[in-house]
Amino acid sequence: MVPRLQPHAQISGFDLGPASTHLPQDVRRARARHALWHWGIGLSAALTGMGVLAALVVGVMRAPKALAVEDAPRRSATIARHAPRGVIATPTIEAQAAAAVQADCEPEPKLERAAPVSLASADVAKLLRDDPEQLGSASIGGPTRGSLFGGVQLRASEGITPAGDHGWGTRTVVASIERAVREVRRCYDGTPKLSVGDISRQGGGFLSPHRSHQSGLDADIGYYYREGPGWFLPATADTLDVPRTWALVRSLIEGGNVEYVFMDRSVQRLLRDYMQSLGDKERMPLEGLFEIDDKKNAIVRHVHGHATHFHVRFFDEDATALGAKLAQYGPRIARATPRKPVPRAAAPRKLPAARPVHRKPLPKKR
Ligand SMILES: [Zn+2]
Repeated sequence: MVPRLQPHAQISGFDLGPASTHLPQDVRRARARHALWHWGIGLSAALTGMGVLAALVVGVMRAPKALAVEDAPRRSATIARHAPRGVIATPTIEAQAAAAVQADCEPEPKLERAAPVSLASADVAKLLRDDPEQLGSASIGGPTRGSLFGGVQLRASEGITPAGDHGWGTRTVVASIERAVREVRRCYDGTPKLSVGDISRQGGGFLSPHRSHQSGLDADIGYYYREGPGWFLPATADTLDVPRTWALVRSLIEGGNVEYVFMDRSVQRLLRDYMQSLGDKERMPLEGLFEIDDKKNAIVRHVHGHATHFHVRFFDEDATALGAKLAQYGPRIARATPRKPVPRAAAPRKLPAARPVHRKPLPKKR
């Protein structure tokens, strides 16, 4: 407190004389400082109060949203991107149960594999020159550094919606996806379309944003959802159509040419629990299936980012063997890439019998 001025008070050792409206300078300064302190404290208190209030308001406004994201992943909005309005049906619990009853539906016949032929280099050279379509598909190099020759494009069909920009795979890979979708549709009435994302570019090679997907052997495949067709939606206990998704994954694996399935652990658990609930009705053994049960040998493995789709790494012996042969021709292969798409039906290839090698140079332009 500033001392009250008294008449003739001694302040700072000076005789101020009679009380006056003209206060000495240092007293005025002291008063001003004092007032400033008060205002300062008042102001900061007010600001702090406002800050706290603002934080509370923002917190209250945000809280329900954060909860909503966790509880109900964006469903209909994103589903609607791929589904015309009105198509989305919400299956009841009874419908899910009915679907489960069909789980023992017969498997789809396996793909016919073309009779293995020994491709002498001369034959490959001749075919590259004269009739490259006869060679079929070749996977050259590997999934993370490779290319694709004679690929087949996965097309829109009654069961499939291509959802990526690059849907080219080896003939076997594309046929394997179509085969599995056929099985799900045959076994479950009212199955919605399945979204299938990127496989590879037409000629393979780097495909952003993927690390693999370079040689026609990798495919990003969507889940089946309870509310209808969708792409890149979180698969949860609420959203995932477990019976159909399990039927799809099982059929792919039973096709006999799946090396790995990359799938989030949370989804693995949903499929595994469903599979176990089927008991004797389930024909596939659990051993060596899910990473959550068998870390060492599992086909279905956890890779981050696969709760919205799963990734299948196929193997295709014929395409890889041909790819190894074609690799020696290097860039010339690009010029020999078939102009017409390779026929989809896996008819046995008619290749000339192996003859002594008289390699002719490939034509310069094609
Ligand atoms: Zn992928």
